Amino acid sequence: MKGIFPVDRFEQLRTPFYYYDMALLRQTLDTINQEVRKHEGFVVHYAVKANANPEVLSAIRQAGFGTDCVSGGEIEASIRAGFPGRKIVFAGVGKSDWEINLGLDADIFCFNVESIPELEVINELATKKGKVARVAFRLNPNVGAHTHANITTGLAENKFGIAMRDMLTVIEHARELSNIKVVGLHFHIGSQILDMGDFQALCNRINELQNELERHRITVEHINVGGGLGIDYQHPNRVPMADFRSYFDTYARQLKLRPGQTLHFELGRAVVAPCGSLITRTLYIKEGAVKKFAIVDAGFTDLIRPALYQAYHKIENISSEEPKDTYDVVGPICESTDVFAKQIDLNATHRGDLLAIRSAGAYGEIMASQYNCRPLPKGYTSDDLA
Ligand SMILES: *Cc1c(COP(=O)(O)O)cnc(C)c1O
Repeated sequence: MKGIFPVDRFEQLRTPFYYYDMALLRQTLDTINQEVRKHEGFVVHYAVKANANPEVLSAIRQAGFGTDCVSGGEIEASIRAGFPGRKIVFAGVGKSDWEINLGLDADIFCFNVESIPELEVINELATKKGKVARVAFRLNPNVGAHTHANITTGLAENKFGIAMRDMLTVIEHARELSNIKVVGLHFHIGSQILDMGDFQALCNRINELQNELERHRITVEHINVGGGLGIDYQHPNRVPMADFRSYFDTYARQLKLRPGQTLHFELGRAVVAPCGSLITRTLYIKEGAVKKFAIVDAGFTDLIRPALYQAYHKIENISSEEPKDTYDVVGPICESTDVFAKQIDLNATHRGDLLAIRSAGAYGEIMASQYNCRPLPKGYTSDDLA
C-alpha cells in the first residue's frame, strides 16, 4: 500500500486500468449534499459524460443526485443505474429522433433545447406519443470562462445554445406548440472553471434575463446553470476535493431566484475527477540524446486529455521510493502527441514499476478509444479490490 493505493492487489491486474477510490467519491458526494442542503431549492444532477462507470453511477444515484445526459446512450446508462426518469435532463445540440423518443418514453424531467428546429421535432414526436415534453431553453449567455479555449462553451461564437436576443421569440414560439411545456432556462459556460467570478458573471446575466422576462410576464419553474466547477490537478493529495462551498455560496448570493423557483446544477468533473487514477506500468527507460523517456503501457487511447487539451495530470511512481529523476512520460501509440508529461520528477522508475496518473476520474475512461487496435482499459473500484 503506497498512500491510497492497494499496490499489492494491482500487481495481479493487467495494466493499464482505471482505479476509483470509492471512499473519496462518497466523501465528495456527502460534502456536496451538505453544501446543497444549506440552500433552498438547489438540485444537483451529475453530468454522465464525465464518467459512466456503473459502480460510480450507482454511488451517485445513492447520494440522491439526478443526471445530465447528452445522448440516448447516457439516458440508457442512467436508467440502467437506477436513476428515475424524472431526475434526468437531456442536453445536446444534435438530438436524434430515437434519442428524443427515448427521453419521452422515460418521462424525463426536461429536454434542454438548443434550437427552434429541434423544438419543432420534439413537439412532433411528443404529439405522436400523446405526451407533453417539458423543455428548457439553453441560452448562450456570451459569458467567457477563464479556462482552456477548447472547453469554453458560453461565448457567442460557440455552437451551443440559443442567442440571447432570440430568447423571447423562442419562448413565445414554444407557447404556441401543443405538446411542449416551457419549464426552464439552461446555461453552461465551460469546464474546469476555478474563478468564482466567472460564475458570478453568469448569475448577473441570468438576473438581467429574468428581469426582462418578467416585463413580459414570463416566469419559469427552474434555472439550470450547468456545471464547470474545476479541481486542483496540481495537488491531488493536498486538495482532493473541489471548492463546493464557494461554488454553491456564489450562486446563493448572486443569483436572484423567483419564489418557488428551483436552481439546478450539472456537475461532472468536480464530482468524479479526483477519485480516479490511470494505473500504468513502466515498460522501458530510454536514454534519448537530450532526455530520459519513461515509456509506459498506457497511451492517449486510455487518457486523451494531455494530447487533446495539453492537460496536466500529476504522475506518481507507486512502486518505488528511490531518489527522484527527471523523465518525459510517454505512451506506446504511434503519434508524437502520445505524451503524458514532459520533464517531470518521479521517484526513479524501472521496468515493471506501477505509475499512477492522478485526477483522471473525469473525461478519462469514458473517452478511451481503440486506436491502434488497443483494448479499452478496464475500470476497478476500491470496493472491487477490497
Ligand atoms: C459537460 C457538461 C456539463 C459538465 O461539465 P463539468 O465541467 O464536467 O462540470 C454540464 N452540463 C452540460 C450541458 C455539459 O455539456
